[in-house]
Amino acid sequence: QNICFTAATTLDWIPGLSSPSQLLLELRLSSLPTSPGYSITRQSDFPPLSSEPRFLSVTGVVLSATLPSEYTQSACFHCPVEGCSGRGSHYVRLHVAGSSEAATVRPSVHCHICSSPLTEDLSLRTIAHKMVVNVVPSHSLRNSLSTPSHRHQATPIIIRGELCEGVRVGGEYSVIGVPVHTLNESSSRAFVYTRLEANNVFHVGRASISVDEAKAVLPAPVTDILSACSYSPWAFSATLAYSFAAEVVPPGAYHRLKLALLLSLASSSTPSPLHLLTVATDTTPLPALLLYGSSLASRSTQLSSTSDLWGSNR
Ligand SMILES: [Zn+2]
Repeated sequence: QNICFTAATTLDWIPGLSSPSQLLLELRLSSLPTSPGYSITRQSDFPPLSSEPRFLSVTGVVLSATLPSEYTQSACFHCPVEGCSGRGSHYVRLHVAGSSEAATVRPSVHCHICSSPLTEDLSLRTIAHKMVVNVVPSHSLRNSLSTPSHRHQATPIIIRGELCEGVRVGGEYSVIGVPVHTLNESSSRAFVYTRLEANNVFHVGRASISVDEAKAVLPAPVTDILSACSYSPWAFSATLAYSFAAEVVPPGAYHRLKLALLLSLASSSTPSPLHLLTVATDTTPLPALLLYGSSLASRSTQLSSTSDLWGSNR
């Protein structure tokens, strides 16, 4: 704060700046130490309430997100007492990570000169957006089919301001933040909810591709189909499967198998590609269809009882 204040006054960036406390500096952390105490994967990994608050990091896939809601980023107060020397001054309260809405707009703020309760100038209140997302580690999605008895606990994360931009359900993110404890009291019991308030959010993966992004890498006919099928998440895959391998099998025939072939091809470069077992005789068009599909794979090998082992790697 002092360094920025010195730079701003020396270069005369902000007219009327008289003290470092008039500057609000938001430090966004880009990394944390790699020791285990700084990284969590589930809600139960949060340090106990009694421990010193510290920054933590979570990496995973956003499973759910609330709609953006408004919160008060800053509120401005002034002294209403006539003749008080502090009357012309403004007292600004800002939201800081971990604090509640009531802490920013609470009326129990007093004048430093005459100790009278301050009055808020509502016209100077600044509003921003926040959302709460639930994140699970990426590996929990990959293992869910092989270990159906496993249950994974999501980590709730509060994201505020411009950090909300670009955060979408299905995306993979790395979040650095501080734990926030909220006491919720009912008539008979009291609960403490612990969530992470984001200090910085990094996009580390992409589970879906937008139409605009696809246009840059796909041929024009496919882009046209993608644009025409934007009304449904299934229409593009179904249309692609319908016309897949039209040279060897009539469009529409073996539709389910063509869909599975496309899925297998699309997942061939991932750590867990989709395996496909098809049982048929050589007299059906199926071998030709599989041969057509394998010609689109980056690596393929064909074996049969009548031909030698041969392969391609391109
Ligand atoms: Zn006063």
